[in-house]
Amino acid sequence: MKALVKEVAGPGFAMKDVPEPRIRDDEVLIRVRRAGVCGTDVHIYDWDAWAQGRCRPPFVVGHEFAGDVVQVGSLVTDVHEGDRVTAEGHIVDGRCLLCRTGNSHVCPHTKIIGVDRDGCFAEYIAMPATNVWHLDDAISFDIGGIHDPMGNAFHTALTAEIPGATVLITGCGPIGLFAVGICKAAGASRIIASDVNETRLALARQMGAHHAVHPQQASEAVKRETDGLGVDVVLEMSGVPAAIHQAFELVRVGGRVQMLGIPAKPMDVNFATEVIFKGITIYGVVGRRMYDTWHQMTRFLRSGMFDPAPVITHRFPLEQFDEAIGAIKSGEAGKVIFEIA
Ligand code: NAD
Ligand code: ZN
Repeated sequence: MKALVKEVAGPGFAMKDVPEPRIRDDEVLIRVRRAGVCGTDVHIYDWDAWAQGRCRPPFVVGHEFAGDVVQVGSLVTDVHEGDRVTAEGHIVDGRCLLCRTGNSHVCPHTKIIGVDRDGCFAEYIAMPATNVWHLDDAISFDIGGIHDPMGNAFHTALTAEIPGATVLITGCGPIGLFAVGICKAAGASRIIASDVNETRLALARQMGAHHAVHPQQASEAVKRETDGLGVDVVLEMSGVPAAIHQAFELVRVGGRVQMLGIPAKPMDVNFATEVIFKGITIYGVVGRRMYDTWHQMTRFLRSGMFDPAPVITHRFPLEQFDEAIGAIKSGEAGKVIFEIA
């Protein structure tokens, strides 16, 4: 089969002909239809310090996808040939304290497809049946293929109290853009979104932000919309230190900061003034809750209250991987996807 492979410990990907994956008894084989391209793939493509520390080439890249099941292992009872599916890309051990107490999103033994084992930028992928998530007939493969980053946004937003809340979303990358639509559907009273990029601010408005502003205007917008109090909730979705400081500054006393964005390196925080004396609660987001987040996501999509489609701005065949990575790096894209079959 054709696959996009991280072949050597250096920059770039290679299109290769590789053997089809063989499934174990508890796995299923999925024909990949759509796959989302993500910042993580860009790190692996660039072979930055994080990728060098984490990844062991050669392996097939990609972790966001949807497709249909073409083969099931002998122990699999609830997934069938022909099922339209997506999957949770974090493969957990199911045995540790965290997994056994309903917290497998932070399982310390997590293996991620396309990072720690073969991924989905290929014609076929093998997945444990326990990770498979069925798609409603009404959900397109396009939308199925972006359940992973959409799930990040659902996890971040819905572990805060959004109904009636004033919300600041710092960073309007694909995940921040999904979060705007989710907060709108979940009944936030005011949504202020910030980004340095005009294209992305325009998308934030399209997704339902009441105000989409440059970070320099965020403070004024928040004060105006919250009677000077600060917002009830900040969803930090940039990972940029300036935005993280702004999150602590613009959350109200006693408010909540949901931290999804990952800073590239350690940063200074004045815990006394930014956190403790403001009495705020900080929540660190990892992946998606298994499988509460997935149920919530399916219900929001079924309700029609939330439509992520406008966030998908670019589509490429697998062969145009350089162009796909380039589109992400340009900053002019929302979500970029591969059309595989
Ligand atoms: P992205 O890089 O496309 O989006 C980040 C956005 O922040 C960009 O649009 C950028 O212009 C904007 N930005 C830059 N400086 C800013 C500032 N000062 N104020 C406001 N916005 C600013 O990323 P994404 O794919 O949407 O992911 C968002 C973040 O979440 C990234 O840091 C990513 O690494 C992280 N992430 C975390 C998890 C997790 O499980 N915790 C999962 C996926 C992604
Ligand atoms: Zn575990």
